[in-house]
Amino acid sequence: MFATSIAGSLPKPEWLAETQKLWPQWKLEGDALRQAKADATLLWIKTQEDAGLDIIGDGEQARQHFVHGFLEQVEGIDFVNKVKMGIRNNRYKAMVPTVTGPLKLRDRVHGAEARFARAHTKRKLKITMPGPMTIIDTIADQHYGDRVKMAFAFAELLNKEARDLEKLGVDVIQFDEPAFNVYLKETVEWGVPALEKAAAGLKCTTAVHICYGYGIEANNKWKETLGESWRQYEETFPALDKSSLQQVSLECRNSHVPPELMKLLKTKTVLVGCIDVASDKIDTPEEVAATLKLATKFVDAERIQACTNCGMAPMTLATAYGKLRSLAQGAALARKTL
Ligand code: ZN
Repeated sequence: MFATSIAGSLPKPEWLAETQKLWPQWKLEGDALRQAKADATLLWIKTQEDAGLDIIGDGEQARQHFVHGFLEQVEGIDFVNKVKMGIRNNRYKAMVPTVTGPLKLRDRVHGAEARFARAHTKRKLKITMPGPMTIIDTIADQHYGDRVKMAFAFAELLNKEARDLEKLGVDVIQFDEPAFNVYLKETVEWGVPALEKAAAGLKCTTAVHICYGYGIEANNKWKETLGESWRQYEETFPALDKSSLQQVSLECRNSHVPPELMKLLKTKTVLVGCIDVASDKIDTPEEVAATLKLATKFVDAERIQACTNCGMAPMTLATAYGKLRSLAQGAALARKTL
């Protein structure tokens, strides 16, 4: 009950990349960069274990950004001439690559870090990848001419990579779909089916993470426009509950999501966001426990896991570590006092 894990990213140490940035530049190249990525992955595995987490991630230390890290190994994408595109329904502009031809995996994408992480922890291992809808919302298109067709083409590549990760002993494969909170109708129409295609045939645990984004200024401003009650999950959870995915990771702590919307996930394991990633204030174990207890009003305790609201990439290492410790201590407290 209340197993703990992170949603995905963790801050990169300053010797690896620029700090407190969503798209940081690497500080090294070639073999030195490869080694530094492995060192940072090892550092975070140990740190998560010391903090007391049950399911360990690689902290996405080997990728610059959670979407582009995947795209870098895909043929048919022009990464050199990036174009400025409004993403998440024009919430903010990002420099994105362009699809210029048929998509194909050039090589394994996250195999190296997954193999490395597997070799260095005996705990359960979770690897994250972007979901198809979020990918196509973070890339320009000059080839497919149809966003849905392109999403399904990416889903096929994701599935291939996911099957390879599973073979390496990865226990949980999680797809990140922040776009599901933006394009609600499309999520039900084709977003969930594309996600199911990405997860098809996997025997390991499958998860989807749906949040309101990192605590960056553009997201914080967008959140201000969403009003007092954020009901986006209400539109999409019924479709997700019927889907083949086993776990749903959602934002809860310090958000305006009405907690009763968790009731819509009748059959899934629910990864409740107990850590606020939009604030540097370290949530206390008592606050984490209170969030978990609140969730038990709507979901059977056996189906609840404790997670962060989103990735923690833009924070300092010390803040992220403090939050990880609170997550583990708060889950332990909730187990004891329930
Ligand atoms: Zn997130």
